[in-house]
Amino acid sequence: MSDLLYDGKRAVVVGYGVTGRAVADFLTRSGASVRVFDDGEIGMESSHSGVTVSRPGEDFRFVVEQADLVVVSPGVPRSHPVYGTSSSPVSELELAYRHTAIPMIAVTGTNGKTTVTTLITEMLSRAGLRARAVGNIGTSIISMLDVDLDYFVVEASSFQLATIESFRPRVAVWTNFTPDHLDWHLGIDHYKASKARIFENQGRGDVAIVNGSDPVVSKSALAHGVRRLAFGLGRFDFGLSEDRSALVGEGKAFLNVSEMSRAFPHDLENALASAAAAFSIGVDLDDIAAVLRGFKGLSHRVELVGTLDGVSFYDDSKATTPASVMAAVGGFESVVLIAGGKNKGLDLSPLASLSSKLKSVIAIGDAAGDIVSVFSEVPGIPVATATSMTEAVAMAFDSASAGDSVLLSPGCTSFDWYKSYGERGDDFRAVVESLILRGGGA
Ligand code: ADP
Repeated sequence: MSDLLYDGKRAVVVGYGVTGRAVADFLTRSGASVRVFDDGEIGMESSHSGVTVSRPGEDFRFVVEQADLVVVSPGVPRSHPVYGTSSSPVSELELAYRHTAIPMIAVTGTNGKTTVTTLITEMLSRAGLRARAVGNIGTSIISMLDVDLDYFVVEASSFQLATIESFRPRVAVWTNFTPDHLDWHLGIDHYKASKARIFENQGRGDVAIVNGSDPVVSKSALAHGVRRLAFGLGRFDFGLSEDRSALVGEGKAFLNVSEMSRAFPHDLENALASAAAAFSIGVDLDDIAAVLRGFKGLSHRVELVGTLDGVSFYDDSKATTPASVMAAVGGFESVVLIAGGKNKGLDLSPLASLSSKLKSVIAIGDAAGDIVSVFSEVPGIPVATATSMTEAVAMAFDSASAGDSVLLSPGCTSFDWYKSYGERGDDFRAVVESLILRGGGA
């Protein structure tokens, strides 16, 4: 990488969070003169890499249109004025792709991205390849360009994919598609089209991994010469044996389902998608199986927190869409569900279809009213509102009997009561642990 790739060029960076900072840093080091715009206060205070951060003002349109390169951060909504200019803003994903020769394995989808990205990275590492999980998972790609690697495994959000131009992953995985992020995108079609762009620039020799049972994903248009591998809970390139007791890849059973530490339907799907990706670049099935055998799942994703009087408590705080709640509840027999938070513009009514698995529902947060109205129409499922996590856990425990599971699976973001889903899950854990210490008493 030449240090002065952008010598004498004018660049604009919109958004000054973790990604924007890394981008501004990279561009400054590469010789560009960089202007950074941010609507928030952090941006106003910061001055990093010698760049000036300002709020978009009267000259915003002019500056953007004069720039040689405009990079938008993932959090910048589609309604931002940068999209109304004649420039073609690109994402950090696109920028990083242009400046690295390290091949990329990219993962997108409504749910399962972080899990699949983690699993693929572990499988590659186990096979002796130098792989790094980057992107939406936490580390910006642009900050890793100087590291010597065999592969980047990129968790690619729809925000990053919406503004690509040449981004061409060697292996692209699309896990599933359900409505999400409608507050950011221009609507469901824009969200769908953004995700589908993961395959857009692929060509001969590349691999596309699609969920064979997903009506949207399985119909993805692929270029001539792209190798398509379908995964799913049936007979697919990566699927299940006839009696569903084993994971099968390209005709060979490579792992018994009973060897996995958890085997919810979505765990099997994530395992199969990851296996297909690793296999497609030459990782052998024994290494793949070894990683899946040892994988305990990530925090805040249907994570067992503790048990009291036969009632098990699970933290699924990461579930911020109805689809992920449905995936979680689907793995249990009898659930007291704690749901709600800040609704990101999604229709929560599909949750009503869970009634056969639910014993009761505790509604929390700003969206408590929405949750109550979904379940007030469903006969036989009591629904009550709690005004704090402590109250929610106490009410859930009261309503549960031995053998039931209390599941925090909100279907909404955490930004009403908390700063992040992690903080929400940690609070749930703290409350549950204190309840267990007291033996259930007040
Ligand atoms: P993402 O990174 O796409 O948000 P995660 O791997 O972090 O996905 O999982 C997020 C939530 O979605 C968790 O609550 C998990 O239980 C649920 N989930 C994970 N994988 C799937 C899947 N394949 N289908 C449906 N839900 C899933």
